[in-house]
Amino acid sequence: MPQNLWNDSDAPAGEGLEALAYRSRLLGADRALVNVFGGNTSTKSVEVDHVGRSVEVLWVKGSGSDIADITEKGFAGLKLEEVLPTFDRESMTDEVMVAYLDRTVFENGRPRQSIETLLHAFVPAKHVDHTHPDAIISIACSPNGQEIMKEIWGDRAAWVDYIRPGYTLSKQIGEAVRNNPEIECVVMGKHGLVTWGDSSKESYESTLRIIGEAEVYLESKRADLPFGEVLISSLNFGDRQEALGKLLPVLRGAMSRARSMILKLDSSPEVLEFVGAKDAPALSQIGAACPDHLVHTKRVPLFIEWNPAEGIDALLEKAKSGVTNYISEYSAYFEANKSEGDTMANPSPRIVLVPGIGMITAGTDVTSADVSRQLYLRAI
Ligand SMILES: [Zn+2]
Repeated sequence: MPQNLWNDSDAPAGEGLEALAYRSRLLGADRALVNVFGGNTSTKSVEVDHVGRSVEVLWVKGSGSDIADITEKGFAGLKLEEVLPTFDRESMTDEVMVAYLDRTVFENGRPRQSIETLLHAFVPAKHVDHTHPDAIISIACSPNGQEIMKEIWGDRAAWVDYIRPGYTLSKQIGEAVRNNPEIECVVMGKHGLVTWGDSSKESYESTLRIIGEAEVYLESKRADLPFGEVLISSLNFGDRQEALGKLLPVLRGAMSRARSMILKLDSSPEVLEFVGAKDAPALSQIGAACPDHLVHTKRVPLFIEWNPAEGIDALLEKAKSGVTNYISEYSAYFEANKSEGDTMANPSPRIVLVPGIGMITAGTDVTSADVSRQLYLRAI
């Protein structure tokens, strides 16, 4: 069960924007609940406008902020009465939806609302949390995710299949809740979770409770060695530092052909267990754990199949040829799947896994290298 961090003496009074920001930070404090830059939260509250009229405002997390350190300024505010009529439409393109929502803004100078805003408007509860928790992703990305959902929550949950976020997904979620008012959550296939409550505290506790139930289920199914036997254990600290001193400049050079990259290392016990395990070479190539990760991790990492007994020179050779092969495979993948107007992103790997050493992630700056690291750690 995730730890309940709600503290009545710290929580702001009332059910408006301040309480929403407080609740959001509590959710973001546990990365197993909301991954970096992922998820969004909302509150519907009555505010007084510039004319003195009472207006129901949908406060929803804006783009560009991370929920873990969000403040009141990080939320967009939209006039709910003007947003809700869109529920009756057949469809809306992203461009039309964004342009429409821009005209419903309650207060100037706030960040732009997220592409997932309408799900918050269409779910009738006052307080709504949309999260991408590890435990839910584990179920929602399983081929039989919907069956597992039924096994855990029975009639207390509804399922929506994966489609790209936008108007239609929001409408499907709104319909699921409006047609089944007794349910407690919506599980979004390959995507995440929607939960809600009558107060910020209730919404937070409902989110924790649903995730906790998923965790109990997963724990009951957990294998002793989920990645198979550990064949290559971690190098000792001194040997690892020596290997990294030679490996990192070679990797950074190879990975910076299109654009200079910054590398970050993660050699935590979870990562070392994974990279050294028997099944890791195959498991790492299955594909991203969650579509949400793709832009930061790419579809697959580069796995360097190296055994410390081969020596460091062999590692350097495998790193160079590994990156070269990755770039040509990625370019071929792009060519085979591109649509008109697509331009190829940097074809270098973002994640490199090395048995005995750990995970090296790449980004154009330290923050983006760390976002990749955090997301792949969640994937593991
Ligand atoms: Zn989402």
